[in-house]
Amino acid sequence: MTSPAPRSDAAGRLPGVPDAATVLVLNSGSSSLKFQLLDPVAEVVHASGIVERIGQDRGQAHLEAGDLRQPYAGEVPDHKVAMEVVTGLFEDAGMSLQEANVVAVGHRVVQGGARFTSPQLVDSWVRDQIADLGALAPLHNPAAVQGIDAARRLFPDIPHVAVFDTAFFTALPEEARTYALNAQVASEYRIRRYGAHGTSHRYVSEQVSALLASEGTDVSDLRQIVLHLGNGASASAVRGDAPLDTSMGLTPLEGLVMGTRTGDIDASVYAHLSRSAGMSIDEIDTLLNKSSGMQGLCGMNDFRDITAAIRAGDERAELAMRVYVHRLRKYVGSYAFTLGGLDTIAFTAGIGENVPEVRERTLEGLEAFGIVLDPEANARREKGVRTISAPDSAVRVLVVPTDEELAIAQQSLEVARSAR
Ligand code: AMP
Repeated sequence: MTSPAPRSDAAGRLPGVPDAATVLVLNSGSSSLKFQLLDPVAEVVHASGIVERIGQDRGQAHLEAGDLRQPYAGEVPDHKVAMEVVTGLFEDAGMSLQEANVVAVGHRVVQGGARFTSPQLVDSWVRDQIADLGALAPLHNPAAVQGIDAARRLFPDIPHVAVFDTAFFTALPEEARTYALNAQVASEYRIRRYGAHGTSHRYVSEQVSALLASEGTDVSDLRQIVLHLGNGASASAVRGDAPLDTSMGLTPLEGLVMGTRTGDIDASVYAHLSRSAGMSIDEIDTLLNKSSGMQGLCGMNDFRDITAAIRAGDERAELAMRVYVHRLRKYVGSYAFTLGGLDTIAFTAGIGENVPEVRERTLEGLEAFGIVLDPEANARREKGVRTISAPDSAVRVLVVPTDEELAIAQQSLEVARSAR
């Protein structure tokens, strides 16, 4: 890599990060490594980026910091090299990661099983347990382990913390996390509902509680629905600070209609496709996870394209949207009953934050249940937490931007500090 003129000061410190502690957050996918360097206390992102196409012909990466965009292209055979690319990108941008006052490295881990109910300081045992849980998340946990190994080699003296996507939902009530599957088989193969997106559901529900508490509401028993609608999508019912149900299950396939995943589907589809179409289990898995959902219904999975197509009269896109919204409304209704009533609904993630049509269709005609949207507030494009229900709506409806990296950084800092 080439080295342009340094942008850090003489001591090699990042611009604007002289003294405050920073956390490096790593999110390792099977062929990607996302990273962010941030100050979790001041809630400032200093740099972020991604290494992509790991293990493929030609890798590519970039780092963004303010107006600066530092690109990289070259071979990235594995996550060890990807980590070196990340440190190289920081150096090429004139920022030394070694001198950025990094006090913890936070790793996003998709599957923590029943065992990890909170973030963990990574030692060899924790690392091996994450590897062992790979049977439950074959696409995700092995990549996380590779990321952890590579980062620990590069930063051996800094605490590494694993933050689990499933941790928040380990507190689900037994009846919500248990499948009505033969109990012996379920136990032997660790089959239960683990949920996912837990870091986001926890973060968003805490933001809602904090806002209402600041207005003088007693939030100890607040009945919330959180709708995390991104490329992956999930719903949760939260009472006080405890999850009562969530839509994702053993894997992130269950629940809502997603960009490329079916969400809920009769499990017999596996047997039917195997018998009738001669498809292998892997082919069916790929079909249900990668080429179904909105993509499979209308050939598009980006809601910018889908809403534009609907406006242009595309009937397949319109049907896909109706299927998407129908599923969402089923979950909203069922969670309102699970909670015994409803105080708030929060929309978050790419679609939840940016697509007013989805919010409007999901909640239209529910005035009898105390849900009244303010059409103007819903249509407004603003940043930050905002209310989109009418003043006379019994249920408060909000848009709450999620920030999983910030949540991971804050939890990592807490664990690192308490471990000292
Ligand atoms: P996420 O997984 O949270 O990053 O969400 C990604 C999805 O959000 C994309 O596939 C888009 O469908 C949707 N999205 C993001 N930004 C917008 C936007 N400005 N308008 C419409 N849809 C958006």
